[in-house]
Amino acid sequence: MTSARTRDRLVKRLADHGITCAQVLERIRSVPRHLFIDEALASRAYEDSALPIGQGQTISQPYIVALMTQALVERDGKVVPLERVLEIGTGCGYQTAVLSPFAKTIFSIERCGALSRSARSRLSSLGINNVRFRHGDGMKGWPGQAPFDGILVAAAPAEIPQSLLDQLAPQGRLVIPVGAGGHQQLMRITRTEQHFEQEVLCDVSFVPLLAGVG
Ligand code: SAH
Repeated sequence: MTSARTRDRLVKRLADHGITCAQVLERIRSVPRHLFIDEALASRAYEDSALPIGQGQTISQPYIVALMTQALVERDGKVVPLERVLEIGTGCGYQTAVLSPFAKTIFSIERCGALSRSARSRLSSLGINNVRFRHGDGMKGWPGQAPFDGILVAAAPAEIPQSLLDQLAPQGRLVIPVGAGGHQQLMRITRTEQHFEQEVLCDVSFVPLLAGVG
């Protein structure tokens, strides 16, 4: 169920669906996704689907985690290590774990206290120590730690929050699902000298980015 063969099958599927970055695929293979979900669901951990993690939230689909990671860390076909990354919507910490080797420090905000606490202890038990957690409203970003080379948002606002654009470093990138309702577009915004460049990556379906703390 959680064997090398099941993981290989998942990685092959992601490669077939257009994930080209070998380091991202290798990271998906090595992060034990079955440890991020309830034991009752462990047999489904290496399926390419979102699964419930309690509090009405879900662990993101592996394809989407891989795509967002690749969109953040790869430039012109090469992985460029990032110094400071802001993640909004820690959830169970799976995306955080996948991202961890690609950044010096990850600042991860989650509005639900119970999820933030359990992600913190899970990542520490996996030996992932370059993450600072905050229980709070990620819509405002983390101004005291800005600017960020990368910002990854795992829940969808109707519009891109200005505070997140303000906290991007020059050449920094924001990867974010945008749109109302259950259907959004995954966007990548790059801060250039004068303005912000926007790219649409694909259609996605994320839980909404909610205001305030839960
Ligand atoms: N990447 C996560 C997916 C989490 S789902 C994982 O792999 O598990 C999105 C998460 O965003 C949920 O846990 C939800 O509670 C959180 N969230 C929603 N609105 C938020 C906000 N304003 N600030 C911080 N977290 C938020």
